[in-house]
Amino acid sequence: MSFLSGRGETIKRTAQMVQMEAADVWGDDTYEPTAGSEPQGNSMDLARLAGMFLPAGRRSHLEPARRGCANLDCNSSWAKPWKSRRRPIFEGRWACGVKCLGTLIREAVRRESSGESTTMNLAPHRHRIPLGLVMLAQGWITHPQLRRALEGQRESGQGRIGEWLQQECGLSSEMVTRGLSIQWNCPILSAESFAPQAMALVMPKEFVEEFELLPLRIAGKQILYLASPDRPDASAAFGLEQMTDLKVESGLLEQGLFAMGRQRLLASRFIATTHESVGETEQLASRIAAILDDQQPIASRLVRIHQYYWLRTWLETGTQSRAGMVPETTEDVLDTIFTVGAKS
Ligand SMILES: [Zn+2]
Repeated sequence: MSFLSGRGETIKRTAQMVQMEAADVWGDDTYEPTAGSEPQGNSMDLARLAGMFLPAGRRSHLEPARRGCANLDCNSSWAKPWKSRRRPIFEGRWACGVKCLGTLIREAVRRESSGESTTMNLAPHRHRIPLGLVMLAQGWITHPQLRRALEGQRESGQGRIGEWLQQECGLSSEMVTRGLSIQWNCPILSAESFAPQAMALVMPKEFVEEFELLPLRIAGKQILYLASPDRPDASAAFGLEQMTDLKVESGLLEQGLFAMGRQRLLASRFIATTHESVGETEQLASRIAAILDDQQPIASRLVRIHQYYWLRTWLETGTQSRAGMVPETTEDVLDTIFTVGAKS
C-alpha cells in the first residue's frame, strides 16, 4: 500500500518536473524572490530534482539549463537576485545572484589551481630516453656522430640536440620528428586539411604564440588534433578538452610544416581577448564573478593552461557550434586571460 502510494507520488512529481522543465525552456523566466514561503521552497527542490533526470555532462552548456540556484549553500534572500534564469551560466550552472555565482567560481578556481589533473598528465613523461639514444637505437646515427653533436651542443651552449644531429649527421628534419615521436610515444600528424580560420577560434592567439601549439583540424566533430614541433603539451591538451568538449589528440608536426602552419594561423582572426592580472586566486574569483555579472553570458568556462587562467564567455545562442564548444565565428564570444600573482 505504501509502496503504491509512494509510486503514485513519484509519478505525480515526475509529471510536475516535466511541466517545470517545459516552463523553464519555453515559458517566461522571471524570478521573483519569495524567500521562506512554502511554494518557493518546493519549486527550488523540484528544479534541482529535475536536473538529476538529465544526463549530466552530456548536455551542451549552450542549452537552456533547468534553473535552481546551483550554489548548495544558497540563501535565496540575497539582495538583487538576477531576474533571468537563463543567464549568466557558468560551466552549465546558473546561480541566483553574484554572491552565489562567486561560490561556484571559487570552486572552479580551486579545481584549476590545484593542478592535479595537469601534473598527473605530465608525470608519466618524466623519464624520457634522450633523443640521441633513440636515434642511435634506430641505427640512424653512429656513436661518434652522437658524441660530436653532444660536444657541439655543450661547447656552444645552445641549440637543441635535434638541431645538432641534423647539422652533424645530415639528418632530415623529418627524421628528427620521427625520433621525437618515438621518444614521446605520440603520433606524427599531417598538415593536410588544416583550416587556419576555423582553428583560430579554438584558443587565444597568445597561447599559439607562447606555447608552440597548433590546432590542426577537427575530425568527425569529435577529435581536435593539436600539434607541437617537438613534444606534446599535456597541460594544453587537457585544458582544451575541458574548454571545447572535444577529445584532443596530441601529436608532432615536422618543424617546417609547423612554422608555416603557425604563420597562417597567426594571420587569421582570433576571438577578442582581454588580459588581466590579479594578485591571488581569491581576487581572480571576484573578477570572474564581476565579468559574468557584467556580460551575462549564456555559457562560460574556466580552464588553466600552464600559468594562465582562461575564461571564455559565449554571449548569445547564435554562437552555438557544430563541433563541441568551438565557436563558428569570432562574434559574441570573448576570451579573458588572467595571470595570477604576476609582478606588477
Ligand atoms: Zn543562490
